[in-house]
Amino acid sequence: MALTPVGTYGRPEWKGYGVVAAMENGRGPTVLVRADLDALPVEEKTSLPYASKVTAKIDAGQTVGVMHACGHDVHVTCLLGTARMLANLKDEWSGTLLLVGQPAEETADGAKAMLDAGLYENFPKPNYALALHSNAELEAGKVGYTPGYFLASLNSVDITIRGVGGHGSRPEHAKDPIVLAAQVILAIQMIVSREISPLDPAVVSIGSIHGGTKHNIIPDEVRLQLTVRAYKEEVRKKILASLERMSCGIALAAGVPVELAPIVKVNETEFTPATYNDPVLTARLSEAFMTSLGAQNVVDLPPLMGSEDFGQFGLDGHQIPTFMFWVGAVDPAKILASKRDGTALPPLHSSYYAPHPEPTIRTGVKAMTLAVLELMKK
Ligand SMILES: [Zn+2]
Ligand SMILES: [Zn+2]
Repeated sequence: MALTPVGTYGRPEWKGYGVVAAMENGRGPTVLVRADLDALPVEEKTSLPYASKVTAKIDAGQTVGVMHACGHDVHVTCLLGTARMLANLKDEWSGTLLLVGQPAEETADGAKAMLDAGLYENFPKPNYALALHSNAELEAGKVGYTPGYFLASLNSVDITIRGVGGHGSRPEHAKDPIVLAAQVILAIQMIVSREISPLDPAVVSIGSIHGGTKHNIIPDEVRLQLTVRAYKEEVRKKILASLERMSCGIALAAGVPVELAPIVKVNETEFTPATYNDPVLTARLSEAFMTSLGAQNVVDLPPLMGSEDFGQFGLDGHQIPTFMFWVGAVDPAKILASKRDGTALPPLHSSYYAPHPEPTIRTGVKAMTLAVLELMKK
């Protein structure tokens, strides 16, 4: 078994890379099992004896607390447990198992970095790719699955609305980008409601708006930051085109010179395609889960508009069937208490997020081992 670092980044200050272990065990399919390794700049406040005390310097140079607030520590533990189980059960399966530790899931560029570094050229290209994610609402001991679209694609978009600045008392001599921004913000609300079929889920949210310095100054520009989520590739492309068309159309109608048309920049690196659970593979593996874990412990869950870069391992157009499933990670007593008191459970990325260690890890290891055995059994 070889353990190889894979994946580099364009930014030299980033030292992270992925690791791949290939377990070769005779003829048969190649199955990739992925765990994400990265943590988040969130200071842990769970007060657990094993709470993270790690700190790191972020881009602005300040030191912040760091924790696995997305359960990626659970995922790594499950990957190691699955490797150990399958090493012990070597007589029951044949083929090649690729165990992938992926960095930079949260910035949505780790999977792509590993693929760009030749993951599928230096190792056998998999017939199937599998992953699990801890779930902050499902009780420990259960797993959840979603056939078809599971998580949405993600695009980060920057819109700079340019005008002609001037004195606040003389708007007739300016082209006010703040009023244009207000029109653009409202027009954008019509993309999902009027241009996309109600049967195709999509979200456009504006998370940031910045412009101006003082009460009596009309500024030169206003900057917007947006997140765009969709399942279907054609819907994603249509939304991006509409953002450009609406922004430019509104500026044109206001008489902004063509050379000052809004700049709509789709961030190249902050992109991930939708996570799509191959329906045939999902049916086969959820069946195997029900047989071994009990039907009451296997739940069909609705898709989400959150995003993950695991879909990258399936390549464009879902060439490789992929399946990502949930592993319940909440203490059942906490679920009961939250229902009783009407209080919310700490979500993923919260400084209070604390996956219940057992039976979460055992269930994750068991389910992933079952999934691999189902695909590779002799
Ligand atoms: Zn996360
Ligand atoms: Zn995560």
